[in-house]
Amino acid sequence: MVENVVIIGSGPAGWSAAIYASRANLQPVLFEGTLKPEMMPLGQLALTTEVENFAGFPAGNLRAFVESAVDASRHYNLPPVPKGHERDGQPHYAVQGVELMELMKQQALNFGTRVIGDDIVDVDFDHRPLKVIPAEEAPVETHTVIVATGARANYLGLPSEEKFKNRGVSACAVCDGALPRFRNKPLAVVGGGDSAVEEATYLTAFASKVFLIHRRDELRASKIMQRRALENPKIEMVWSHVVDEVLGNDQDGVTGLRLKSTKDDAPRELEVAGMFASIGHTPNTAFLRGKLEMNEKGYLKWTSPFRTLTSVEGVFAAGDVADDYYRQAITSAGTGCMAALDAERYLAAQEK
Ligand code: NAP
Repeated sequence: MVENVVIIGSGPAGWSAAIYASRANLQPVLFEGTLKPEMMPLGQLALTTEVENFAGFPAGNLRAFVESAVDASRHYNLPPVPKGHERDGQPHYAVQGVELMELMKQQALNFGTRVIGDDIVDVDFDHRPLKVIPAEEAPVETHTVIVATGARANYLGLPSEEKFKNRGVSACAVCDGALPRFRNKPLAVVGGGDSAVEEATYLTAFASKVFLIHRRDELRASKIMQRRALENPKIEMVWSHVVDEVLGNDQDGVTGLRLKSTKDDAPRELEVAGMFASIGHTPNTAFLRGKLEMNEKGYLKWTSPFRTLTSVEGVFAAGDVADDYYRQAITSAGTGCMAALDAERYLAAQEK
């Protein structure tokens, strides 16, 4: 049997593509991934707490709705309702990453998407039909493929950083910066590129002060972004330092950072309530090397402006795997929809 559409990835791009493809009666198969770093089930949002910027989900008493929509067999996967955000005695919180993804998954399942919990480890795009090869299951032949495997934020790799993820350590200021734990507190951003400056600037709206910690004495960011950081009175540059350890405790989460100079041995400590790693992302494209055109950082190339077409006919790319610029859940969901429409039109043109 040759499938119409195989979707690889289970973040907002993958589920949105699945919703559109299944509603178009294409009976898509979606490979959800396993718990390996690449192809993590439910994508990067599974690592986030509240998502306040996904249109359509203002804060409220969401749990009854989430539980009524998501199949009871998956309720065990839902994180606890956040505490400390009550209004009139009821929970009042923004949708949590896992809740949002479980809702998207449910929507795709409701229209007949078939979900397989496996990783795609290889592909054959040289022959027709196309073929995707999972780690455990049998290879699947298909007329079209939508790659939506996302990207993962790079972290520093410290054990103490791992320990405080979601408790003061984050890699996304836009996602997490406005959370109560960061309000009116000193925060730190690590990195020296455009993202680091942008994140630091964004955080100044909430933080009492932002330390921008860079391992060199010159920013990589563009000149205009550099000026933005250097002229902002709430941003203090910490040049030529790297983070040696994230300090904190179980009750408060992050309370500070121990830094190491890249020039001498002088240690330094900073009191901060949060650390935002902004040292770049890695797209999940290792299994596609040599099979699809990529840019120098490994992101898939869209070969036609504003279309999700890749260098292989019938293969489309959606979400962060083809976007190192916007990287938002809502933009990913948008391109997932585009990829499904592109696949549907391609199939129609091929009379498949
Ligand atoms: P990037 O340009 O690759 O910068 C990564 C930064 O992290 C660099 O300063 C690097 O230091 C530092 N770094 C890397 N590994 C590190 C480590 N282990 N420890 C400490 N520091 C480390 O990545 P990005 O800032 O995410 O930007 C990605 C792309 O998006 C760029 O092309 C950027 O121009 C673009 N972008 C544009 C905008 C905008 O125009 N508004 C906003 C965001 C991003 P070194 O400098 O020493 O290598």
